[in-house]
Amino acid sequence: MVYYRKYRPQKIEELDSKDLRERLYPVLSSSVAHAFLFTGPKGLGKTSTARIVAKAVNCEKRFAINKEQKTKNKEQKGKILGSELKVKSVEDIEPCNECAQCISITNGSSLDVLEIDGASNRGIEEIRDLREKIKLLPVSAKKKVYIIDEVHMLTTDAFNALLKTLEEPPVHAMFIFCTTEAHKVPGTIVSRCFHVQFHIATDEELISSFHRIGKGEKLSIDEEVFGEVAKLSDGSFREGAKILEELVLVSGGEKITKELLEEKYQVASIKYYVENIVSHLKNKDTKFALSTVEDVIEKGTDIKYFLEQLISKLHVDLLMQVGVETETRNKKQEMSIEDIKRLVELFSKAHQELRYAVLPQLPLELAIIEWGIEKNNQLSVLSSQLSDNSQSVNQLTGKPKTDNRIWGQLIDKVKTHNHSLAGVLRGCSLKSFSDSELVIETSFQFHKEKLSEEKAVRVLEQVASEITGNPVKVLIELKGK
Ligand SMILES: [Zn+2]
Repeated sequence: MVYYRKYRPQKIEELDSKDLRERLYPVLSSSVAHAFLFTGPKGLGKTSTARIVAKAVNCEKRFAINKEQKTKNKEQKGKILGSELKVKSVEDIEPCNECAQCISITNGSSLDVLEIDGASNRGIEEIRDLREKIKLLPVSAKKKVYIIDEVHMLTTDAFNALLKTLEEPPVHAMFIFCTTEAHKVPGTIVSRCFHVQFHIATDEELISSFHRIGKGEKLSIDEEVFGEVAKLSDGSFREGAKILEELVLVSGGEKITKELLEEKYQVASIKYYVENIVSHLKNKDTKFALSTVEDVIEKGTDIKYFLEQLISKLHVDLLMQVGVETETRNKKQEMSIEDIKRLVELFSKAHQELRYAVLPQLPLELAIIEWGIEKNNQLSVLSSQLSDNSQSVNQLTGKPKTDNRIWGQLIDKVKTHNHSLAGVLRGCSLKSFSDSELVIETSFQFHKEKLSEEKAVRVLEQVASEITGNPVKVLIELKGK
């Protein structure tokens, strides 16, 4: 996490969240609140912001301004105003990052700005100790600032003790509480704080933070990579900085391209799964579509990212279907416009529900099941119209529907022998199947190699023979060859 630490914002102006900047400027421009509560998910810069606030209230530049103003006021009105006067502009609120106070706070060496971990100092004893010490005047700063991280971890007794201090805080003291779990902080505490909620970063905010890193590190990086990393960051600055750092490591000094990112984050295999799932949906194979989701999860792929890729693929398909030329060249999709449109709707809904899902894959799975139900209803209507036509077709070489059943049977049986082999098969298709020969088709050379391994062929032939009751020879072919 070198980048995250190195490039953490040092000024309000550098905070990537516009919302946050707009909240902080006004509150810091006047006589400052004595307690802040920063809440929100991890990796959004709550502690970084707490330090900026500590600097803003202690910066020597600020005293100078106030002194100047006081003198002026004295001359003009002949009286002294309160201990802290309104600063004039946004620029005056910012810490200078150059004075002794700013520097010591940035370094973490200030004796007056103390960072306390709520998780390891959660008891009544620690808070009592804090209450005693807070009465003492700051050593050199104007305000003694206590930054308590993970404040929700405090015990009830500790909170009660803290509350007493919050009710009558010494003039020189200031608290900044940070927590990821706002609901665990008692209402009595919350109501005495200036509450700032940190929101998940937008792609735009993330990209602006990456630019700061890119510039500072003089990185050679494709602009589009920033956008892709933002999508992978889950709205967290910290996570995004971590991904960038990993990319720099694997790039070995080469230019960081989208291809490198794809390689690192297996985006290529995501594309492959996306193709896979769409073809299962087209074939109304709910079961296979669901097992592809399982594979995606097993690979550790981010479901949100996967859904986005899925939706953008369908989007391109849709445009192609209505005759719009697109940059991305997809294989021609044989689904109807209505079907693609419906899938886009279902997956967009799943994407929205992701945020509140108990299991990340659940909304996607439910969308697939819903699609399966809708399609099966249509299928049963169709099949009753066609009467029992399909029954008369040769069981092994006939309709795709029958083929699908055999293929499913084969994969299920293979799975009991070899799990990963079954996984490979799911990405392939059955070209033909007779009493004595099974031809499997794949678009990928590495799949062909994998399936052609002696061990794999043995399992496939055994399983195929079990299904037909005859010895079966297995052939693997590359699609289009
Ligand atoms: Zn300063």
